[in-house]
Amino acid sequence: MQWRRIGWRACLWGAVMVVAMERGVMAQDAAMNATFEDIARRYIDQMPALSPINATTLGDHRYDHRLDEVSEVARQRDRAFHQKFLAELQSLDRTKLGRDQQVDLQILREQLRGDLWRLEVLQEWAWNPVVYTQMTGGAIYGLMAREFAPLEKRLLHVAARLEAMPRLYEQIRQTLDAKRVPPIHAETAVKQNRGLASILENLVKPHLSKLGEADRTRLNQAMATALAATEQHQVWLEKELQPKAAGNFRIGAKLFDEKLPFSLGSKLSRQEVRDRAEFELKRVRAEMYVIARGVLLKSGKVPATDAPEKPTAEQQQKVIEAALELAYAEIPDRDGIVDFAKKSLAMATDFVKQRDLVTIPPDPIDIILMPEFQRGVSIAYCDSPGALDVGQKTYYAVSPIPTEWSDKQVKSFLREYNFRSIHDLTIHEAMPGHFLQLAHSNRSPRKLRAVLSSGTFIEGWAVYTEQLMAEEGFLDRDPLMRLIAFKWYLRGIANSILDQAIHVDGMNRDAAMQLMVRDTFQEEREAALKWVRAQLTSTQLSTYFVGYQEHRDLRAAAEKAWGSKFTLKRYHDGTLSFGSPPTRFARALLLDESISE
Ligand SMILES: [Zn+2]
Repeated sequence: MQWRRIGWRACLWGAVMVVAMERGVMAQDAAMNATFEDIARRYIDQMPALSPINATTLGDHRYDHRLDEVSEVARQRDRAFHQKFLAELQSLDRTKLGRDQQVDLQILREQLRGDLWRLEVLQEWAWNPVVYTQMTGGAIYGLMAREFAPLEKRLLHVAARLEAMPRLYEQIRQTLDAKRVPPIHAETAVKQNRGLASILENLVKPHLSKLGEADRTRLNQAMATALAATEQHQVWLEKELQPKAAGNFRIGAKLFDEKLPFSLGSKLSRQEVRDRAEFELKRVRAEMYVIARGVLLKSGKVPATDAPEKPTAEQQQKVIEAALELAYAEIPDRDGIVDFAKKSLAMATDFVKQRDLVTIPPDPIDIILMPEFQRGVSIAYCDSPGALDVGQKTYYAVSPIPTEWSDKQVKSFLREYNFRSIHDLTIHEAMPGHFLQLAHSNRSPRKLRAVLSSGTFIEGWAVYTEQLMAEEGFLDRDPLMRLIAFKWYLRGIANSILDQAIHVDGMNRDAAMQLMVRDTFQEEREAALKWVRAQLTSTQLSTYFVGYQEHRDLRAAAEKAWGSKFTLKRYHDGTLSFGSPPTRFARALLLDESISE
């Protein structure tokens, strides 16, 4: 369910002061607007140079031949860059800007503050080796995943980046401070470091024959150099870093609370997120029980005495599990997944049109087979182009079952990806989830909002559409469809609880597994992977639930404000028309409210 555009950076907020300003009371100052637009333009122009790898993903291809620097000099340069732009923003009188400029000023300021905080306070560059293992693979993947330039040109850029890999690895070894590295991060880096080899194997080697002899020789040489450097780095990771790794993976209350608003661009505090999540966990389980009970009693699968109106905790658990089993039993054939996903996309599109839920932009979406080396994790994902890669296609990538899988593996995978779950995933990834939202977003003329898009807004929208479609009766009001949509929502709720409970409250593996496998009905294998991911990252797992809550709050506010003039289409088109800013800014613009800090 993870939205794949690696280049976005979450948008941020900092100060809590609210400046109440009635719209139109103060005149806009055209000169002030122009000054701000100039700052924004220069930021978009200059920022990509800080990280060539991110620049490629973003769609700025001026640095495709270069590789990032990981050194104290580079960090000093970044710091000076952020400080300079912050100082420029500081000199503007926000109250004299137009509303769009006010929003964008806040988005840019919080991005800069967050970047500085990461550099100076969080200092992940010193203790998280996983950042770097993903960087080396991403450097090549970003050049090969999309046809933004002729293949030959991209392959030569691959060669240039590979030639610089030994320098990058050397810088990484000098930067990481082993005693601050948590053992789980060291272990994961050891496992992921060789990922570069598989990317070369799958995305680069098949195209070697397209190059002339001299270029082919150069690329072959570069691959050999980079792979030798990877092996050398592997030895260092195993023999030097891992034995000395002694950091704590739990980042603790102080860092978590400082990081949360920067990562999510939300004003909800850790405690507010927790209260909402625990309330929703109970509410959704109670609703699931009502649906499950109805299905089971109707089918005669359980006696009424085992499913009373007011169940015990144990009865609630058993009845929901039994109804979920009915959904798990309806699965595609081993070879039928891709066809089913196509059908599912057509059905979801028809439903959105027929119910007139939101405007469907004419943008193309291609259903493609998931590249082989990415299969086996999720059954589908939406791969959208970078914010500056205008005109590039969106892919809805669907995975067939790997041929080497045993029947037992296939069965467990398809329990998770039964028919209804595939529908739910199609809704989230494509229609009316990520694909539709990003197509609307790309029509916004505010370029800064595209470059600094809010992951919380984007993921929150996708989660919101899953519930929207179930509530509106997708699949002929099928109760098991609603049950499955709730099950996926429970996963988002559990993610947000795990995130803070693990990093702040010391939650252990047993308690985490209990929350996932029992309370929110997840498969054991999936839950085990999530336990690892929750240790490796912080605040990111809260994105889905927090974003969903904010979209719900926004809709409730619009219903109240517009009264009888509220329609879903008016509301959805309106919400999606501002790009992908943090949701509180979409709210201010949609409902004409004051723009808070
Ligand atoms: Zn998503």
